[in-house]
Order: sequence, then C-alpha cells, then structure tokens
Amino acid sequence: MTATRLDGKLFAGRVRERVADEVTKLKSEQGITPGLAVVLVGEDPASQVYVRSKGKQTIEAGMNSYEHKLDEQTSEADLLSLIDRLNNDAAVHGILVQLPLPKHMNETAVINAIAPAKDVDGFHISNVGRLNTSQKSMVPCTPLGCLLMLRDHHGDLSGLNAVVIGRSNIVGKPMAQLLLNESCTVTIAHSRTKDLPDVIGRADIVVAAVGRPEMIQGDWLKKGATVIDVGINRIEVQNADGTVKNRLVGDVDYASAEKIAGAITPVPGGVGPMTIACLLANTITACCRANGIEPPKDLGV
Ligand code: NDP
Repeated sequence: MTATRLDGKLFAGRVRERVADEVTKLKSEQGITPGLAVVLVGEDPASQVYVRSKGKQTIEAGMNSYEHKLDEQTSEADLLSLIDRLNNDAAVHGILVQLPLPKHMNETAVINAIAPAKDVDGFHISNVGRLNTSQKSMVPCTPLGCLLMLRDHHGDLSGLNAVVIGRSNIVGKPMAQLLLNESCTVTIAHSRTKDLPDVIGRADIVVAAVGRPEMIQGDWLKKGATVIDVGINRIEVQNADGTVKNRLVGDVDYASAEKIAGAITPVPGGVGPMTIACLLANTITACCRANGIEPPKDLGV
C-alpha cells in the first residue's frame, strides 16, 4: 500500500479561491476591501522573494497590498513609527514584518508593537497567550496550514495521538497547541527526546518540524499514520555525470515513509504553499473581526 499524497499545492489553491470568494463578498456586501501591509527591512534575497510572492498573491485574491521596503540601515525607531501608522490605518487589516530583521533591531519588540488584531503572523505575545488559553487569536500561518490539511483529510481529529517533532515558537509549539485544542493527545519531541522512533511509533499524526534532511524513517511510523512534513532542507545530490545539483527535501524520508504511512505531504509541494495561503486567510479573519463580522470557519480556527 502506498500512502495518499496530500497535495499542498492543490489545497493551497483551494484556500486561495475561498479567500478570493470572501473578498468578493466583503466588497459587494460590506463595501470593504481587505488590506495586507508587508514590511521588508534590508535586502535579504530570500525575504525579497517571499515578499514579492506575498504581494502578488494578495493582489490576485482581490485584496489591497501595501508594500513598505525600508533600507537595511533604518533605525528601529523609524520602523516602530511605520508600524504605529499601519496600526492606525483603517485600510490595513493585516500587518506582517518579514523576518529576519537586521541585527541592530530587537525582533521581539518590533513584533509586539504590531496591533494584536492585525498580527497576521500570529507571533505577538498576546496572540501566543490567547492561542494557549483557547481564546480567539491570530494563528501562525505554517501551523494553521498544517491543521487545515489535517482537518481536510481526517475531519474530526479528536482523540488521535499526535506527535510534533520540534518546539520552535513559530512552528512546533503553536502546532502542538492547535492539535491540543482539537482534542488530540499531543506529545512534543525535541533534540533531547529519548528513543524518538518509539515516540513516533505511537502516533496517528506526525508533524515533523526539525530542519534535518530525511531524518524520520518510514519504519519508525505506525502503519497508516498521517505525516505532515514541515521541513525544508536543501541538500546536494550527485548527477550520473558527476556534477552536483541542489534538491529540496523534508525532515521525513519520503521513499520509506510512503510505504508505511496512510497519508503524507511531499516536499516540495506539501506544507510550503500553505503558508502564504494561510496568510491571506488570516487577513480575511482579521478584516472580518475588525468589522464585527464572523470570520469564515473553514479559513481559521
Ligand atoms: P528550529 O530550528 O527553530 O527548531 C527545530 C526544532 O527541532 C527544535 O525544537 C529542535 O529541538 C528540534 N530538533 C533538532 N534536532 C532534533 C533531533 N535530532 N531530534 C528531535 N528534534 C530535533 O526550526 P523551525 O521550527 O523554524 O523550522 C523547522 C523546519 O521547518 C525547518 O526545516 C524550516 O525550514 C521549516 N519551515 C518551513 C516553513 C514552511 O513550510 N513554510 C515555515 C517555517 C519553517 P531543541 O529545541 O531541543 O533544539
């Protein structure tokens, strides 16, 4: 038996279509156009690619995109004053500050300066606290994407054993909390976990967010488990002619895992495309809440 391939590209396309439908509805029924502001400080090439992609997809969904590109040398005070302006701009429903920031800036202070209701990355301390106490919050995009894919595949997640490997603030911890809020029995594994294969072997759901290429082996999995691979790792592989090329792989050894798992996300084309789709979904949620409208349930938690 080969696992069902959970196609994140396809699913992200469906989420974007749902977002576009909601934008059309907000425009025609309420006269509101959701707006997302993205702030980029400096010239980091990967960040520039992400910001361009976010802007393009925001516009394609019918929303307003506001891009603010600041010089690498910009002072923290100037960045904070831009955030303050965006916080007070009624046309802006979501604010995202692209990370990492230049070294002279305090990332935590900058993130916590964003109005929590506009914090579409879900990193503000108030949103972290609200998620962890099961209150309405903005949820970090990557774990939200994983959850939407899991819900789509399983329906009800209640009572399932879930193992999240990784305890970062942006993926592992919020993912574990989301699964707990869905009434899964959740284990968080990390670099000090003893006998990881044994821990993973008891899980109906495995979410890998480690950053170690193809670390998780198929024979560690429980038969039929659902595997969500968040890892994005660039490795070098040799061509037949001896030349070397780069390849993207996940944290899970896909070839061995697909023989045991019931369902699995590929890398690339799994969780990756869901992150921006969920950023757009979060902007809809923020826009609806700002206007006293119940946000669509299928685009959030
Ligand atoms: P971090 O480096 O912040 O966290 C990695 C976690 O993995 C840590 O908690 C660490 O444990 C744990 N870990 C490291 N080695 C082991 C091991 N041998 N066994 C078990 N656990 C281990 O990474 P992120 O959470 O930021 O990202 C994880 C992966 O997800 C990366 O590949 C990243 O590129 C990818 N990613 C993908 C996104 C997307 O698809 N859009 C978005 C964000 C991330 P400890 O805490 O003990 O050190």
